[in-house]
Amino acid sequence: MTDISILDERKKQIFTKGNDDFEMKCESQSVSGSVSQRACVFCGSRVVLYPIADALHLVHGPIGCAAYTWDIRGALSSGPQLHRLSFSTDLRETNVIFGGEKKLYAALTQLIEMYKPKAAFVYATCIVGVIGDDVDSICRKVTEETGIPVIPVHSEGFKGTKKDGYAAACQALFTLFDNFSPNMDEKPKFAINILGEFNIGGEAWIIKEYYRRMGVNIISVMTGDGRVDDIRNAPLASLNVVQCSGSMTGLAKMMKEKFGIPYIQVSYFGVEDTAKALYDVAEFFGDAELLKNTSEMIKAEIAEIHPEVLSIRRQLEGRKAAVYVGGAFKAFSLLKALKNIGMDVVVIGSQTGAKEDYKTLKEICDPGTIIVDDASSLELAKFIIEKKADLVIGGVKERPIAYKMGIGFCDHNHERKIPLAGFEGMLHFAREVRNTVLSPVWKLFPARNEVKKESSGKAA
Ligand code: SF4
Repeated sequence: MTDISILDERKKQIFTKGNDDFEMKCESQSVSGSVSQRACVFCGSRVVLYPIADALHLVHGPIGCAAYTWDIRGALSSGPQLHRLSFSTDLRETNVIFGGEKKLYAALTQLIEMYKPKAAFVYATCIVGVIGDDVDSICRKVTEETGIPVIPVHSEGFKGTKKDGYAAACQALFTLFDNFSPNMDEKPKFAINILGEFNIGGEAWIIKEYYRRMGVNIISVMTGDGRVDDIRNAPLASLNVVQCSGSMTGLAKMMKEKFGIPYIQVSYFGVEDTAKALYDVAEFFGDAELLKNTSEMIKAEIAEIHPEVLSIRRQLEGRKAAVYVGGAFKAFSLLKALKNIGMDVVVIGSQTGAKEDYKTLKEICDPGTIIVDDASSLELAKFIIEKKADLVIGGVKERPIAYKMGIGFCDHNHERKIPLAGFEGMLHFAREVRNTVLSPVWKLFPARNEVKKESSGKAA
């Protein structure tokens, strides 16, 4: 197991801080022969748009694409649940030969009649790109006939990386503003949009409550617990606050150009980053009352969680974590939060990081940490063993890697049900890491015992 070798073409995408010259190769297609942990373009667009709860989401493609992404993040809604139904045109062999446009038109008109959505998103998958269905013209036709925005999402799986899926989703969201002009004379005071928050475990609700206590108005959350009308009113905001930089910076840039709305990048994960995010917003508006509210609220929130976080830190001191997530911004926050609870991060990587992101990662991680771009599951297994990690943090595709090796796993992505955002989220995170790492169950895991023996034999 420890003898896994790295493909030559991948060697420039893996570095150990302190050992190697650091010039990360990234933002490129995955290497052929290496089974990347990345999802496809379609999946990237689906995760971004999926939490818009009053829209219809129709996957134009074979059934596997829809099944693969069904309820992909379980994003919570405080109202409609339409997003949690996964609709597909279920393309078959005959459609591939004769085209799938008729099937798309029939599915769209039937579903819109049945569910009366506020908008519909039509996701073009690999096969649609191959057979060349004119998805745009079908969407235009159904828009005219039904009066709701029917938006094509050009997300053919093979045409790039998951990041291209984010771009397709941003483009689709941007078209929601077409032919819709909110009354700019009614711009509310201290109003923001939250971008890149997907409300997987109720995080959007925690963040909104912080802003409410500060005195900041939220026009829309894109796209957690999302509503089409709120998103269409987004131009009324004075500031866009981008959390998931990989998925939503594209839209923030487009909105800056078209509506003149500036944007800032923040993270709501961990004490340090949450406090900074809230202060950054308060400072943007520069209102004395707002700043006072913000400062008081942050102090009260930290005082509440601090004693327990400190106690957990004492229990976890010196344990090792491997982190592999989608966006690099998430990796920065995880690294800081893990350090806060006494853990050493020994492996860290992302699916979609840019050169600048990896430079930042290098600066904030400890010497000896392996930094990796676009890893495969085998590579991750190799590094986890070599570095003797006690915990893996990742998403749905990293979970089986950890469990097969008998190592604790914490989900920081699709499947969790406990919110990890904000101060309250930091406490949830610390408890989850503590309970996972210190669970006695790992001692009973034969595979892990083998791995430990094997790696300590090699080290000696
Ligand atoms: S790669 Fe293509 S076929 Fe596979 S899930 Fe993505 S869109 Fe569907």
